[in-house]
Amino acid sequence: MRSPSLWRALLGVEKTVVEEVEYDENDEVVVAHVRPRRAKHGRCGACGRCAPWFDRGEGRRRWRALDLGTVRVFLEADAPRVTCQVHGPTVRQMPWARHGAGHTHAFDQQVAWLATQCSKSAVTALMRIAWRTVGSIVTRVCADIDARVDRLSGLRRIGIDEVSYRKGKKFLTVVVDHDTGRLVWARPGRDAATLRVFFDELGAERSAQLTHVSADTASWIANTVATRAPQVVVCADPFHVVAWATQCLDDVRREVWNEARRKPGGTKAWGSHAGLRHNTSRGNARKLQRSRYALWKNPEDLTENQRAKLEWIAATSPKLHRAYLL
Ligand SMILES: [Zn+2]
Repeated sequence: MRSPSLWRALLGVEKTVVEEVEYDENDEVVVAHVRPRRAKHGRCGACGRCAPWFDRGEGRRRWRALDLGTVRVFLEADAPRVTCQVHGPTVRQMPWARHGAGHTHAFDQQVAWLATQCSKSAVTALMRIAWRTVGSIVTRVCADIDARVDRLSGLRRIGIDEVSYRKGKKFLTVVVDHDTGRLVWARPGRDAATLRVFFDELGAERSAQLTHVSADTASWIANTVATRAPQVVVCADPFHVVAWATQCLDDVRREVWNEARRKPGGTKAWGSHAGLRHNTSRGNARKLQRSRYALWKNPEDLTENQRAKLEWIAATSPKLHRAYLL
Protein backbone atom coordinates (compact mmCIF):
# COMPACT_ATOMS: atom_id res chain seq x y z
CA MET A 1 0.00 0.00 0.00
CA ARG A 2 1.56 3.27 -1.11
CA SER A 3 1.27 6.46 0.93
CA PRO A 4 -1.12 5.14 3.60
CA SER A 5 -1.12 8.46 5.44
CA LEU A 6 -2.30 10.25 2.28
CA TRP A 7 -5.15 7.77 1.94
CA ARG A 8 -6.09 8.14 5.61
CA ALA A 9 -6.31 11.89 5.06
CA LEU A 10 -8.29 11.55 1.82
CA LEU A 11 -10.74 9.13 3.40
CA GLY A 12 -11.01 11.20 6.58
CA VAL A 13 -10.29 8.32 8.96
CA GLU A 14 -8.17 7.95 12.09
CA LYS A 15 -6.83 4.95 14.02
CA THR A 16 -7.38 2.99 10.86
CA VAL A 17 -5.11 0.90 8.66
CA VAL A 18 -5.76 1.30 4.92
CA GLU A 19 -4.82 -2.06 3.45
CA GLU A 20 -5.71 -1.55 -0.19
CA VAL A 21 -7.64 0.81 -2.43
CA GLU A 22 -9.33 -0.35 -5.62
CA TYR A 23 -11.35 1.40 -8.31
CA ASP A 24 -14.39 -0.48 -9.54
CA GLU A 25 -14.87 0.78 -13.11
CA ASN A 26 -18.27 -0.86 -13.59
CA ASP A 27 -19.88 0.76 -10.57
CA GLU A 28 -17.61 3.83 -10.70
CA VAL A 29 -16.77 3.57 -7.02
CA VAL A 30 -13.56 3.55 -5.02
CA VAL A 31 -13.43 0.82 -2.39
CA ALA A 32 -10.88 1.15 0.39
CA HIS A 33 -10.17 -2.01 2.37
CA VAL A 34 -9.53 -1.02 5.96
CA ARG A 35 -9.25 -2.37 9.50
CA PRO A 36 -9.05 -0.77 12.94
CA ARG A 37 -5.46 -0.08 13.95
CA ARG A 38 -5.84 -2.09 17.16
CA ALA A 39 -7.92 -4.89 15.69
CA LYS A 40 -7.32 -7.26 18.60
CA HIS A 41 -8.63 -4.87 21.23
CA GLY A 42 -12.30 -5.09 20.48
CA ARG A 43 -14.75 -2.75 22.14
CA CYS A 44 -18.54 -2.98 22.24
CA GLY A 45 -20.02 -0.78 19.51
CA ALA A 46 -22.88 0.29 21.76
CA CYS A 47 -21.02 1.30 24.92
CA GLY A 48 -17.30 1.26 24.14
CA ARG A 49 -16.36 -1.23 26.90
CA CYS A 50 -13.56 -3.69 26.15
CA ALA A 51 -15.08 -7.00 25.17
CA PRO A 52 -13.79 -10.39 23.98
CA TRP A 53 -14.24 -11.65 20.43
CA PHE A 54 -17.53 -13.45 19.76
CA ASP A 55 -17.82 -14.36 16.07
CA ARG A 56 -17.30 -13.03 12.56
CA GLY A 57 -20.73 -11.46 12.50
CA GLU A 58 -22.06 -11.04 8.99
CA GLY A 59 -18.63 -10.90 7.40
CA ARG A 60 -17.44 -7.88 5.44
CA ARG A 61 -19.40 -4.64 5.42
CA ARG A 62 -19.24 -1.35 3.58
CA TRP A 63 -19.52 2.24 4.85
CA ARG A 64 -20.08 5.18 2.54
CA ALA A 65 -17.31 7.80 2.85
CA LEU A 66 -17.09 11.30 1.37
CA ASP A 67 -16.78 11.36 -2.42
CA LEU A 68 -13.39 11.81 -4.06
CA GLY A 69 -14.17 14.32 -6.76
CA THR A 70 -17.16 12.88 -8.58
CA VAL A 71 -16.51 9.29 -7.56
CA ARG A 72 -18.32 7.67 -4.68
CA VAL A 73 -16.16 6.03 -2.02
CA PHE A 74 -16.76 3.09 0.30
CA LEU A 75 -14.74 1.69 3.16
CA GLU A 76 -14.87 -2.08 3.39
CA ALA A 77 -13.93 -4.08 6.48
CA ASP A 78 -14.72 -7.12 8.59
CA ALA A 79 -17.42 -6.42 11.14
CA PRO A 80 -16.92 -9.07 13.80
CA ARG A 81 -19.00 -9.21 16.96
CA VAL A 82 -17.74 -9.02 20.54
CA THR A 83 -19.46 -10.20 23.71
CA CYS A 84 -20.32 -7.21 25.86
CA GLN A 85 -21.25 -7.79 29.51
CA VAL A 86 -24.16 -5.42 29.07
CA HIS A 87 -25.17 -5.69 25.42
CA GLY A 88 -24.33 -9.33 24.64
CA PRO A 89 -23.01 -10.12 21.16
CA THR A 90 -22.60 -6.75 19.44
CA VAL A 91 -20.72 -5.57 16.36
CA ARG A 92 -17.41 -4.12 17.55
CA GLN A 93 -16.68 -0.42 17.63
CA MET A 94 -15.17 0.94 14.42
CA PRO A 95 -12.95 4.03 14.55
CA TRP A 96 -14.37 5.45 11.30
CA ALA A 97 -18.13 5.29 11.91
CA ARG A 98 -20.85 5.51 14.55
CA HIS A 99 -22.36 2.26 15.80
CA GLY A 100 -25.07 1.07 13.43
CA ALA A 101 -24.23 3.74 10.85
CA GLY A 102 -23.74 3.05 7.15
CA HIS A 103 -21.61 6.19 6.69
CA THR A 104 -18.31 7.44 8.07
CA HIS A 105 -18.02 10.15 10.74
CA ALA A 106 -16.85 12.66 8.12
CA PHE A 107 -19.83 11.86 5.89
CA ASP A 108 -22.30 12.18 8.80
CA GLN A 109 -20.74 15.47 9.82
CA GLN A 110 -21.06 16.97 6.36
CA VAL A 111 -24.68 15.86 5.91
CA ALA A 112 -25.68 17.19 9.33
CA TRP A 113 -24.09 20.56 8.58
CA LEU A 114 -25.69 20.75 5.12
CA ALA A 115 -29.09 19.96 6.62
CA THR A 116 -28.83 23.14 8.67
CA GLN A 117 -27.73 25.24 5.68
CA CYS A 118 -29.66 24.23 2.59
CA SER A 119 -32.85 22.72 1.33
CA LYS A 120 -33.85 19.12 1.63
CA SER A 121 -33.54 18.53 -2.11
CA ALA A 122 -30.09 20.15 -2.25
CA VAL A 123 -28.74 17.84 0.46
CA THR A 124 -30.15 14.69 -1.08
CA ALA A 125 -28.93 15.56 -4.59
CA LEU A 126 -25.46 16.73 -3.58
CA MET A 127 -24.74 13.85 -1.21
CA ARG A 128 -26.61 11.30 -3.33
CA ILE A 129 -28.64 9.93 -0.45
CA ALA A 130 -32.34 9.58 0.40
CA TRP A 131 -34.06 12.14 2.63
CA ARG A 132 -34.75 9.42 5.19
CA THR A 133 -31.00 8.85 5.40
CA VAL A 134 -30.47 12.54 6.12
CA GLY A 135 -32.98 12.19 8.97
CA SER A 136 -31.22 9.24 10.55
CA ILE A 137 -27.80 10.89 10.17
CA VAL A 138 -29.03 14.09 11.84
CA THR A 139 -30.55 12.02 14.65
CA ARG A 140 -27.22 10.22 15.23
CA VAL A 141 -25.15 13.40 15.17
CA CYS A 142 -27.59 15.10 17.57
CA ALA A 143 -27.47 12.14 19.95
CA ASP A 144 -23.67 12.41 19.94
CA ILE A 145 -23.79 16.13 20.67
CA ASP A 146 -26.41 15.62 23.41
CA ALA A 147 -24.10 13.12 25.08
CA ARG A 148 -21.29 15.69 25.14
CA VAL A 149 -23.12 18.99 25.56
CA ASP A 150 -25.68 19.84 28.23
CA ARG A 151 -28.06 22.32 26.61
CA LEU A 152 -29.78 23.06 29.90
CA SER A 153 -26.69 24.18 31.75
CA GLY A 154 -26.16 27.83 32.56
CA LEU A 155 -29.73 28.93 31.75
CA ARG A 156 -30.63 32.32 33.26
CA ARG A 157 -33.18 34.05 31.05
CA ILE A 158 -35.49 31.81 29.09
CA GLY A 159 -38.61 32.09 26.98
CA ILE A 160 -41.41 29.54 27.09
CA ASP A 161 -43.85 29.37 24.23
CA GLU A 162 -46.10 27.02 22.34
CA VAL A 163 -45.88 26.47 18.60
CA SER A 164 -48.41 24.68 16.47
CA TYR A 165 -47.81 22.31 13.59
CA ARG A 166 -50.01 20.14 11.38
CA LYS A 167 -52.13 23.21 10.60
CA GLY A 168 -52.69 24.11 14.21
CA LYS A 169 -53.84 20.64 15.25
CA LYS A 170 -50.74 19.70 17.22
CA PHE A 171 -48.62 21.70 19.60
CA LEU A 172 -45.09 21.79 20.93
CA THR A 173 -43.92 23.50 24.06
CA VAL A 174 -40.57 25.09 23.36
CA VAL A 175 -37.97 26.72 25.58
CA VAL A 176 -35.41 29.17 24.24
CA ASP A 177 -32.34 30.62 25.90
CA HIS A 178 -32.59 34.41 25.49
CA ASP A 179 -28.87 34.87 26.19
CA THR A 180 -27.72 32.65 23.32
CA GLY A 181 -30.85 32.84 21.17
CA ARG A 182 -30.90 29.04 20.94
CA LEU A 183 -33.73 26.58 21.22
CA VAL A 184 -32.82 24.41 24.20
CA TRP A 185 -35.83 22.19 24.76
CA ALA A 186 -39.00 21.11 22.96
CA ARG A 187 -41.68 18.50 23.55
CA PRO A 188 -45.13 17.70 22.12
CA GLY A 189 -48.05 19.05 24.14
CA ARG A 190 -49.02 22.39 25.64
CA ASP A 191 -50.01 21.96 29.23
CA ALA A 192 -48.61 22.09 32.74
CA ALA A 193 -47.60 18.40 32.62
CA THR A 194 -45.40 19.02 29.55
CA LEU A 195 -43.74 22.01 31.14
CA ARG A 196 -43.18 20.09 34.39
CA VAL A 197 -41.07 17.60 32.39
CA PHE A 198 -38.81 20.51 31.43
CA PHE A 199 -38.39 21.57 35.06
CA ASP A 200 -37.81 17.93 36.06
CA GLU A 201 -34.98 17.68 33.54
CA LEU A 202 -33.64 21.05 34.61
CA GLY A 203 -33.63 20.01 38.27
CA ALA A 204 -34.17 22.10 41.38
CA GLU A 205 -30.66 23.54 41.49
CA ARG A 206 -30.65 24.88 37.93
CA SER A 207 -34.28 26.04 38.21
CA ALA A 208 -33.18 28.16 41.16
CA GLN A 209 -30.62 29.90 38.94
CA LEU A 210 -33.21 31.17 36.46
CA THR A 211 -33.79 34.90 36.72
CA HIS A 212 -36.30 35.77 33.97
CA VAL A 213 -38.95 33.85 32.09
CA SER A 214 -40.84 35.33 29.19
CA ALA A 215 -44.12 33.80 28.09
CA ASP A 216 -47.55 34.67 26.79
CA THR A 217 -50.30 34.89 29.39
CA ALA A 218 -51.23 31.18 29.40
CA SER A 219 -52.04 30.31 32.99
CA TRP A 220 -50.48 26.84 32.77
CA ILE A 221 -47.11 28.45 32.06
CA ALA A 222 -47.46 31.06 34.79
CA ASN A 223 -48.63 28.54 37.40
CA THR A 224 -45.94 25.98 36.62
CA VAL A 225 -43.20 28.61 36.65
CA ALA A 226 -44.52 30.01 39.95
CA THR A 227 -44.30 26.62 41.67
CA ARG A 228 -41.03 25.39 40.14
CA ALA A 229 -39.04 28.62 39.98
CA PRO A 230 -40.76 31.12 42.30
CA GLN A 231 -37.80 33.53 42.22
CA VAL A 232 -38.03 34.41 38.52
CA VAL A 233 -39.36 37.60 37.03
CA VAL A 234 -42.08 36.65 34.55
CA CYS A 235 -42.24 39.00 31.56
CA ALA A 236 -44.44 39.25 28.52
CA ASP A 237 -42.46 38.26 25.48
CA PRO A 238 -41.79 40.99 22.88
CA PHE A 239 -43.65 39.21 20.08
CA HIS A 240 -46.89 39.02 22.03
CA VAL A 241 -46.60 42.62 23.25
CA VAL A 242 -46.37 43.86 19.67
CA ALA A 243 -49.20 41.59 18.55
CA TRP A 244 -51.50 42.77 21.35
CA ALA A 245 -50.67 46.44 20.77
CA THR A 246 -51.37 46.14 17.04
CA GLN A 247 -54.66 44.42 17.79
CA CYS A 248 -55.72 47.14 20.26
CA LEU A 249 -54.75 49.90 17.85
CA ASP A 250 -56.78 48.28 15.11
CA ASP A 251 -59.78 47.95 17.44
CA VAL A 252 -59.65 51.66 18.29
CA ARG A 253 -59.26 52.60 14.61
CA ARG A 254 -62.31 50.52 13.72
CA GLU A 255 -64.30 52.08 16.54
CA VAL A 256 -63.44 55.63 15.46
CA TRP A 257 -64.11 54.72 11.84
CA ASN A 258 -67.55 53.35 12.73
CA GLU A 259 -68.37 56.55 14.59
CA ALA A 260 -67.32 58.60 11.58
CA ARG A 261 -69.42 56.43 9.28
CA ARG A 262 -72.57 56.89 11.33
CA LYS A 263 -72.31 60.66 11.09
CA PRO A 264 -74.26 62.33 8.27
CA GLY A 265 -72.23 62.23 5.05
CA GLY A 266 -70.09 59.38 6.31
CA THR A 267 -71.26 56.88 3.74
CA LYS A 268 -72.58 56.91 0.23
CA ALA A 269 -75.19 54.43 -0.90
CA TRP A 270 -74.28 52.97 -4.27
CA GLY A 271 -77.71 52.20 -5.56
CA SER A 272 -78.55 48.54 -5.47
CA HIS A 273 -77.06 45.67 -7.37
CA ALA A 274 -78.89 42.36 -7.39
CA GLY A 275 -80.82 43.56 -4.37
CA LEU A 276 -77.70 44.31 -2.37
CA ARG A 277 -76.98 47.73 -1.02
CA HIS A 278 -73.40 48.90 -1.28
CA ASN A 279 -72.17 51.43 1.17
CA THR A 280 -68.88 53.16 0.58
CA SER A 281 -67.15 55.16 3.22
CA ARG A 282 -66.76 58.82 2.41
CA GLY A 283 -64.97 61.76 3.88
CA ASN A 284 -63.37 61.13 7.25
CA ALA A 285 -64.57 57.56 7.35
CA ARG A 286 -62.83 56.78 4.06
CA LYS A 287 -59.59 58.38 5.13
CA LEU A 288 -59.60 56.38 8.35
CA GLN A 289 -60.18 53.17 6.48
CA ARG A 290 -57.01 53.85 4.54
CA SER A 291 -54.87 54.85 7.48
CA ARG A 292 -54.20 51.37 8.71
CA TYR A 293 -50.62 51.08 7.48
CA ALA A 294 -49.66 54.53 8.67
CA LEU A 295 -50.71 53.50 12.16
CA TRP A 296 -48.77 50.26 12.08
CA LYS A 297 -45.38 51.56 11.07
CA ASN A 298 -42.60 52.91 13.23
CA PRO A 299 -42.48 56.73 13.00
CA GLU A 300 -39.08 56.73 11.25
CA ASP A 301 -40.33 54.38 8.50
CA LEU A 302 -43.34 56.46 7.52
CA THR A 303 -43.74 57.82 4.00
CA GLU A 304 -44.56 61.51 3.45
CA ASN A 305 -48.14 60.60 2.68
CA GLN A 306 -48.50 58.42 5.76
CA ARG A 307 -47.02 61.13 7.95
CA ALA A 308 -49.60 63.57 6.63
CA LYS A 309 -52.32 61.03 7.43
CA LEU A 310 -51.08 60.72 10.99
CA GLU A 311 -51.14 64.50 11.43
CA TRP A 312 -54.66 64.51 10.09
CA ILE A 313 -55.62 61.76 12.52
CA ALA A 314 -54.12 63.72 15.41
CA ALA A 315 -56.24 66.72 14.41
CA THR A 316 -59.54 64.93 13.77
CA SER A 317 -59.49 61.84 16.00
CA PRO A 318 -57.59 62.53 19.21
CA LYS A 319 -58.76 59.21 20.58
CA LEU A 320 -57.11 57.20 17.80
CA HIS A 321 -53.95 59.28 17.90
CA ARG A 322 -53.65 58.69 21.61
CA ALA A 323 -53.93 54.94 21.04
CA TYR A 324 -51.20 55.16 18.39
CA LEU A 325 -48.78 56.92 20.70
CA LEU A 326 -49.20 54.19 23.29
ZN1 LIG B 1 -21.83 -2.75 25.42
